[in-house]
Amino acid sequence: MKITPESDNMGEPWRRSNGTFRAHFKTKEEADLFAQDPANWPTYKGDVSHKCPECGWWHLSKIEWLAKPGDIIEIGGTYYRVEQDEYYGRAYRRVGLQAKLINV
Ligand SMILES: [Zn+2]
Repeated sequence: MKITPESDNMGEPWRRSNGTFRAHFKTKEEADLFAQDPANWPTYKGDVSHKCPECGWWHLSKIEWLAKPGDIIEIGGTYYRVEQDEYYGRAYRRVGLQAKLINV
């Protein structure tokens, strides 16, 4: 498989608060392969690849970090609706099995 950058005007990837770069990839394929590699599971197992609107690179994140209020997400086979809680911020309310996973 040939992997080519999606664009050549990518900026500097975001850094973590400690100054190191977040894991970043030129393509979704690279990010997904990294997340699927058992060597990276201590940190990235189950993570979802997403293109960063800020820096243009692909990152890996927990699905619950990406979901917005109103989204339905699936974690470990259970579906949750993401809600905004007045006191606690994000809340995850379990929903019935008829819900289907939607893209976040
Ligand atoms: Zn970024």
